[in-house]
Amino acid sequence: MGRRLFIAGNWKMNKTASEAADLVSKLKTEIGAAAGKVTVAVCPPFTALDRVCGILKGSNIAVGAQNLSDKASGAYTGEVSASMLLDLGVRYVIVGHSERRQYYGDTNEIVNKKAKFAISAGLLPIVCVGETLQEREAGRMKDVITTQFKGCLGNFTKEEILKTTIAYEPVWAIGTGKTATPAQAQEVHALIRSMLSGVFGADLAEQIIIQYGGSVKADNSKELMGQKDIDGALVGGASLDPAGFAKLIINAIG
Ligand code: PEP
Repeated sequence: MGRRLFIAGNWKMNKTASEAADLVSKLKTEIGAAAGKVTVAVCPPFTALDRVCGILKGSNIAVGAQNLSDKASGAYTGEVSASMLLDLGVRYVIVGHSERRQYYGDTNEIVNKKAKFAISAGLLPIVCVGETLQEREAGRMKDVITTQFKGCLGNFTKEEILKTTIAYEPVWAIGTGKTATPAQAQEVHALIRSMLSGVFGADLAEQIIIQYGGSVKADNSKELMGQKDIDGALVGGASLDPAGFAKLIINAIG
């Protein structure tokens, strides 16, 4: 439907600033001209953002953060604000990753607040949704995705949703080596697009990028992103190796 693929690497709590600098310098060379055919971003830890933004300035690779505060500034020890990220040159921010939901208490309500706040400040959120294995096996996948969709995005304006990327990340496929089959992923992506259509209208729903995340690698990226409603990937482990991540991207568009 004319949507441009968007592939983002989520480095999680990996790479010091020096290691990150080395990784992106290599990534720039490895990706080469392919970066012009697809939207690419890397999301290093906060401590590496400044170095990475400096190296990638003027390139076709954008930079994202992995989280942000839902407050503008003030007495919130340990938090990082949207304006601090923007000042470094950060464009995207991951919100509601399952690891934040599981270990740091990010609820749908908090995800909604953070995503809206990010947009109002000028950042583009990547909002993650996804069911656990237990939920899938109990036949609750649709309920869980619907509840997350409504809670995280249900009250967005059209302007806000147009600035948002949605990442479907089945929790059982994250870091486990178990990838959803292209058909399993497509089913959920189609569900998300139909919910987008219901709330925001069919035309707008066709414009929204829905990434798949969960053990995406160079050898499965093409098949996954060949599905009608899969418009890119949020990649964890495989984004930490510059040659492998570049290959994943090149294979997806090839
Ligand atoms: C992720 O953390 O967003 C992710 C999809 O991880 P992995 O690719 O390692 O499964």
